Amino acid sequence: MSTIDISTALSTLQSLSSSPSTSASGPLTVLIDDHLTHAKQRLINGENPSEVVTDLQKNVLKAKKEVDRGLKGWYAALGGVGRAVDKTFPPQLSSMSSAYDDPPLFSSPPAKEALDLVVLDSLGRRGLWDAVEALEEELGIQYDEERRKLSEEMHRIIEDIERGDVGSALEWCQTNKSFLSSPQQPSALPYHLHKYVFLSLSNPHEALSYAQRNLMVYIPTQPVLQLVTSCLYPHLPSTTSNTSSSIPSLQSVASYPMKTDGVSNTNNHPETPYQSENSPSLVALFRTEFCRRHGWPKEDPLEVVVDLGSRGGALGVIEKARRLMGDHLGGVRTWTELPMQVPLPPSRRYHSIFVCPVSKEQASEMNPPTMLSCGHVIAEESFNRLLKSGRRPAKCPYCPTETSQAAAQRLYF
Ligand SMILES: [Zn+2]
Repeated sequence: MSTIDISTALSTLQSLSSSPSTSASGPLTVLIDDHLTHAKQRLINGENPSEVVTDLQKNVLKAKKEVDRGLKGWYAALGGVGRAVDKTFPPQLSSMSSAYDDPPLFSSPPAKEALDLVVLDSLGRRGLWDAVEALEEELGIQYDEERRKLSEEMHRIIEDIERGDVGSALEWCQTNKSFLSSPQQPSALPYHLHKYVFLSLSNPHEALSYAQRNLMVYIPTQPVLQLVTSCLYPHLPSTTSNTSSSIPSLQSVASYPMKTDGVSNTNNHPETPYQSENSPSLVALFRTEFCRRHGWPKEDPLEVVVDLGSRGGALGVIEKARRLMGDHLGGVRTWTELPMQVPLPPSRRYHSIFVCPVSKEQASEMNPPTMLSCGHVIAEESFNRLLKSGRRPAKCPYCPTETSQAAAQRLYF
């Protein structure tokens, strides 16, 4: 998220300014408080003044070096903040926005209200209720009561998971059991929550009994048996070429304290047994399922849009084209698609269309994408042409595999 980039640079700067080792005041304080007082005392005691002054000079030089070093670090961090700001926001944002202000954006009352609601919703999604209330008061709009309750529930459960307590998340799974186990899109969340509890039990009997009660139901879809055996019998060689050392023993799991970051953040504690198996972050998994359950977008729409424009580089590319080509580009606001390419990170690519690689036609409801036995995907019409009479299976245009009409599967994007 773009705002985070800046806040990281800012906190670096902040920690430097408060740390005595890097701030200029540290070495100076030492110089005045210690060395000067000490020198004065030595003079009073009748020591040789030239020796005292020479020592003092050495200390002053040393302090100056330390101050210089501290300042260097400070300016580097300051530059870091500047670069983070430049990187996050395109330059001359206000002059750019006026260049695209024809017709003016968000000027009609419904458009203004829509924008306000998007901002309000983004704040509510993050659980920033102080900001939500301030905006409500300022604009005279209201955050949906039902939505607020749901968002509060989501954040309460996320906080619990971050604390290492998955009880409320499991309760939520129980309440939404039929949704989570729907055959179209069964969720892996309950399994991973139970697995987390299982791994945290230090007593093997207790763990086994927990697994029997809660994990057996996931055998068809998850590696339950492997998990249970590798934890209860850590000294057995595993079925793969790795030795048992790569599998967390129940004892090592038990000695791992259930703390915040181990559960929520995959990067902070790579040594924790749970994370070492590349398990998804429970918080991310829960958030995704919660949003899916209530039909909320998977990501905050406002964040996605701002990210695409700023860090994604779309605004920079458009602005560069506008400056180079001026009026030749036509009114930017009348474009239905961008006349230039904007390279986006994979997480920001939303391909909802499929173009058949054989016919080069875009798939539609009447001509949907069809997956062959080999996994290659072409449009249904192309597949039907390959089938010819329909009595013989069709050969894939990309590999030697043959697919019968019955084996072909319609895909939904
Ligand atoms: Zn194929």
